[in-house]
Amino acid sequence: GSTIGILGGGQLGRMLAQAASQLGYRAICFAPPGDNVAADVCVDHFENGWGDKAALAAFASKCDRITWEFENVPLSVLDALPAERVVPGKRALEVAQDRLNEKQFVEELGATCAPYMRVDSEDDLRRAVDRVGTPGILKTARDGYDGKGQWRIASAHEAEGIRFPGRTCIYEGLVDFETEFSVILVRAKNGTVRFWDSTDNKHDGGMLVRSALPAGDLIEAQVQKARDIARQTADALGYIGVLTLEFFATNQGPVFNEMAPRVHNSGHWTIEGAATSQFENHIRAVCGLPLGGTETRFAAIEMRNIVGKDALTAHKILAEEGEPHLHLYGKKEAREGRKMGHVTRVSNKVA
Ligand code: ATP
Ligand code: MG
Ligand code: MG
Repeated sequence: GSTIGILGGGQLGRMLAQAASQLGYRAICFAPPGDNVAADVCVDHFENGWGDKAALAAFASKCDRITWEFENVPLSVLDALPAERVVPGKRALEVAQDRLNEKQFVEELGATCAPYMRVDSEDDLRRAVDRVGTPGILKTARDGYDGKGQWRIASAHEAEGIRFPGRTCIYEGLVDFETEFSVILVRAKNGTVRFWDSTDNKHDGGMLVRSALPAGDLIEAQVQKARDIARQTADALGYIGVLTLEFFATNQGPVFNEMAPRVHNSGHWTIEGAATSQFENHIRAVCGLPLGGTETRFAAIEMRNIVGKDALTAHKILAEEGEPHLHLYGKKEAREGRKMGHVTRVSNKVA
């Protein structure tokens, strides 16, 4: 079969479709109406609501395999698709869509998480703040990304002023971390797992701004433990494709934050910086092809996101020294806080 369906229409889908196209596949994306930049590079696309069963059936009839670029696809969508063609599979979405589920899942595999409690009401929030302590973060259990659906709480007094958002939340203690990193792996159907190097990740306002290698001693010392957890997670889910786990590097070791059952922003550097990119290896895994190597090809790598209006002048980056690799996603509106592109700089000189 040679047509790959992608659920979701954002930049991750766009880069997956580009990798699929390079390998000779046709990509088709399915996403609710919006600025679906994946559609621009797909041979066909569906812009329909997730609840549109007829459109989903038409989409499925054109696809030999179906994957996703976005973990908040409703489970009802998967139920409307032929399960044997959907990779990585429903179980991964079930676990990763819900912060409470994913934390419980990796804790059972031996990971350390920040202290947390489920919150279903204002009373629960008061209890959680009392037991977990402050500072902390209240997060909606589902649907958040780029720090959306999160409220930082500095004190019990401040918690009084927070209106419960009306859906299940999680209250987590704020982790006192040195820095952050993610483990990105690809797992093939036969169980082979490969890891990319873990970058040092910097966030601002809950959104990734920069990923860099070398990651530094603290992360390097904690990666092995984090990889063990990530591999066990992938094995336990019977996962096929690229899987990401985010960690805080603390002086007490790695603390698991969340997982993304997909390619990840902190892996964009792999396009130029690794033997095989996360996008290509995801497509390879989904299609049952041999995996490519994941080795890093440069001594130093830095990926920075281009956010909001910065995209309007991003072409000037091309005049800079060091052959920066510019990626713009073709989004129509440069809204504040919106990921518009990224730039990757590689070098064999370590600063
Ligand atoms: P993503 O876009 O990565 O999916 P998200 O909206 O799911 O983001 P998180 O990854 O939970 O949000 O949080 C975003 C960032 O906020 C983290 O990378 C970290 O910098 C900070 N953060 C979140 N939770 C905590 C915590 N418990 N302690 C300290 N910092 C935190
Ligand atoms: Mg997330
Ligand atoms: Mg995150």
